[in-house]
Amino acid sequence: MERRIAVLGGDRRQIWLAKLLADDGYDVVTWGLDPGGTVSVPLHEALARECLIFPLPVCRNGMLNLPLTDSLLSEEVIWPKLSPQQLLLGGMTAELSPRLREQYGLTMLDYYQREELQVANAVPTAEGAIQLAMEHTEHTVHGSSCLVMGCGRIGKALAQRLHGLGAKTAVSARQYSDLAWIDACGWESLKTNALQGHIGRFDLIFNTIPACVLDAGLLRELKPSSLVIDLASAPGGVDAAAARSLSRQVIAAPGLPGKAAPFSAAVAVRDSIYHILEERGDIV
Ligand code: NAP
Repeated sequence: MERRIAVLGGDRRQIWLAKLLADDGYDVVTWGLDPGGTVSVPLHEALARECLIFPLPVCRNGMLNLPLTDSLLSEEVIWPKLSPQQLLLGGMTAELSPRLREQYGLTMLDYYQREELQVANAVPTAEGAIQLAMEHTEHTVHGSSCLVMGCGRIGKALAQRLHGLGAKTAVSARQYSDLAWIDACGWESLKTNALQGHIGRFDLIFNTIPACVLDAGLLRELKPSSLVIDLASAPGGVDAAAARSLSRQVIAAPGLPGKAAPFSAAVAVRDSIYHILEERGDIV
């Protein structure tokens, strides 16, 4: 890989990513991060580097994702300054990439498309979700009735940990194969489209489904003391207006890997970047 790297923007995991790459011998500078031990440079210097690592996601609403600074930077300022010779990496680039290619001739490689990164991220997400549950309830997770909605990467990682802590753990899924795995793991299995009549008994509900599954009907059935932690990416899986009008407790919890375990999250991003480069035949 090109030895001169800039890490631009993102959360605390990108600070750790810059340090990890520097520890591996790369010449790393940062921009748009709280420096925290890394070499911060002006934007034009960062954009001139041979390899640029953008955050996860790269942009929010047309602006570079810069949660750690007060700076605002439109993405349109960045792209015209880059050349196709630079190696560009970013997370969640599905919408961005076609436009970059067509308008600017740039290719951005998406490290978040790597299955190994999404699996690795499920661990800090599950731990962060449990941390939130502990902080926002007066009772232990042990003995609580917990429902995990969705049996994908995060659903499985979370259910396993809740079960280990002694929670009465139920998991919902829509595929019979997932329901069979849920049974095999010793958790209660529920069909996601048939939660009516069941959802009212849970103390903690963790949603991992990226679709509006917790609608007004289900929210109405919840115990007023229940806590919903919505882990699905924006726009999430909860009808927020209905939750507000019914006074249900809902915490939207995006970006947990970067908040709960930025170091581990950075290791996962670094490894995925190295896997991409290895598969491209670049020397790491
Ligand atoms: P995943 O492995 O794809 O799991 C998603 C689950 O939701 C699967 O069980 C899937 O069922 C189910 N599902 C999807 N659409 C559905 C629908 N319309 N109705 C019913 N079930 C549906 O995804 P993941 O890696 O666990 O991630 C889950 C969500 O969390 C994503 O939105 C992801 O972007 C987000 N995320 C959040 C954080 C955070 O910090 N909060 C961190 C990482 C990721 P099938 O298998 O049947 O499709």
